[in-house]
Amino acid sequence: MTRTISIFGATGSIGDSTLDLIRSDRESWNVVALSANCSAEKLAQLAREFDAKLAVVGDENCLPELREHLSGSGIEATGGAEALVEAASRPVDMTVAAIVGCAGLAPTMAAIEQGNTVALANKEALVSAGDVMTAKVAEHGTTLLPVDSEHNAIFQCLQGNDVADVRWITLTASGGPLRERSLDELAAVTPEQAVAHPNWDMGAKISVDSATMFNKGLEFIEAHHLFPVGLDRLRIVVHPQSVIHSMVEYRDGSTLAQLGPSDMRVPIASTLAHPRRMDTQCEPLDLAKIGELTFFAPDEERFPATKLAREAAHAGGGAPAVLNAANEVAVAAFLDGQIRFTQISAIVARTLDNYAPAAPQSLDDVLAVDTEARRHASAMLEPA
Ligand code: NAD
Ligand code: MG
Repeated sequence: MTRTISIFGATGSIGDSTLDLIRSDRESWNVVALSANCSAEKLAQLAREFDAKLAVVGDENCLPELREHLSGSGIEATGGAEALVEAASRPVDMTVAAIVGCAGLAPTMAAIEQGNTVALANKEALVSAGDVMTAKVAEHGTTLLPVDSEHNAIFQCLQGNDVADVRWITLTASGGPLRERSLDELAAVTPEQAVAHPNWDMGAKISVDSATMFNKGLEFIEAHHLFPVGLDRLRIVVHPQSVIHSMVEYRDGSTLAQLGPSDMRVPIASTLAHPRRMDTQCEPLDLAKIGELTFFAPDEERFPATKLAREAAHAGGGAPAVLNAANEVAVAAFLDGQIRFTQISAIVARTLDNYAPAAPQSLDDVLAVDTEARRHASAMLEPA
C-alpha cells in the first residue's frame, strides 16, 4: 500500500537521510510536498526525482529561482512562511518535520492539526512550544514519532511497558568534539572545530549544539514532553562512542537500551515503517570492532548548557522558549565569527535572567516569546 508523505527541511541532513530511505522503497511512498529554506536548485531536483506535487521555499526571495528550476515540470512552487504552513496543512499520511530551529514550529503545528502521523526531528519546535504542542497532539489524536536518536531509542525501549513503571530515563550524550578541552581552550575554539563531530554528520546548528551540550539540554526538555515521567527521573550520561542511543530503567531494576550505528537512517526508518520495520543499507553494529563502551558524568562547569536547560525545564513558563531562542541567536553569531564559543552559554544564561515570560498558551504566544527573547539575546552580541 502506498502512503503519502511531506518532508519539511528536505534539503538538510535529516531530509537527505529520509529521502535516501524513500528512494530505497520508492513504491511505498507518494511524495506530496518538499520544502527548503532557499536551496532552490537542490529542492527542484528532489521534487523532480520524487515526483512531488509541491515544492516550497521558506524564503520568499528564492521563489523565482525555484520556479525557474521547476519550469515545465508541472510541479507547483510556493514560497514564504505562510506557504510553508499551507503546505503542511495539505493532507498526508505522514509529515517529516526536519526544519532546523523555531522556524519549523508553525508548519509542524499545522501538520499536527491534520491528526495523522508526524515524525519529529525539529526538537527546537517542541522545546519552544512544550505543552502548547503536546496539547495539540492530544486534541487531534496525532501520532507523534520521535526521530531524534535518543528519543527514538527511549520510544522503542518503552514499547510494551508502562511509563508508571519507569525509574529512570537516561539520555546518552556523545559529549561532542570538544569533550576533553579545558575552559581556556574552549574560549578559543573556531566554528570549524566546533562543527567537526566525531560520530555524526549533521547540519551546522545541531553540530554546534552538540559541541556546547545545548543539544543534550534541548533533548532533556524534549524528553520531558514526549515521555511524562517527571523531570526528576530524567538524567544524562556521556557515552563517547554513541552506540547506546538511550536507556530506560524500570522499577524492578531492568534497564532496556537501544543500540545501533551512528546513522540517522536507523531512527528515521523506525518512524517510516512504524509499527513494523524496514530494510536499511546501514552498517551493521560490530561490537567486537568497537571494543569498549565508556560512560562519564557530564561536566557542567565546562559545559553549563545541560544545567541551564534543566533549570529552564523546572522554571517552566516561557523559559524553555527563551533558552531555545537565545541559543539560536548565539549559535548563529558564533558561526558568523561575532562571539566566542564560551559566550554562547553566557548569552543564553543572561537572556534567561533578563526575560522570564509567563507560560505561552497558544502558538502565537510562543512565537511572541521567541521574538522577544531573540531581541534580548541579539542586544548582547559583542565583538569576540
Ligand atoms: P540542516 O541544517 O542540515 O537542514 C535544515 C533544513 O531546514 C534544510 O532543508 C533547510 O533548508 C531548512 N531550513 C533552515 N532554515 C529554515 C527556515 N528559516 N525556514 C524554512 N526552512 C529552513 O539541519 P539538520 O541537521 O537536518 O537538522 C534538522 C532538525 O533535525 C534540527 O532541528 C535538528 O536538531 C534535528 N536533528 C538532526 C539530527 C542530525 O543528525 N542531523 C539528529 C537529530 C535531530
Ligand atoms: Mg539527538
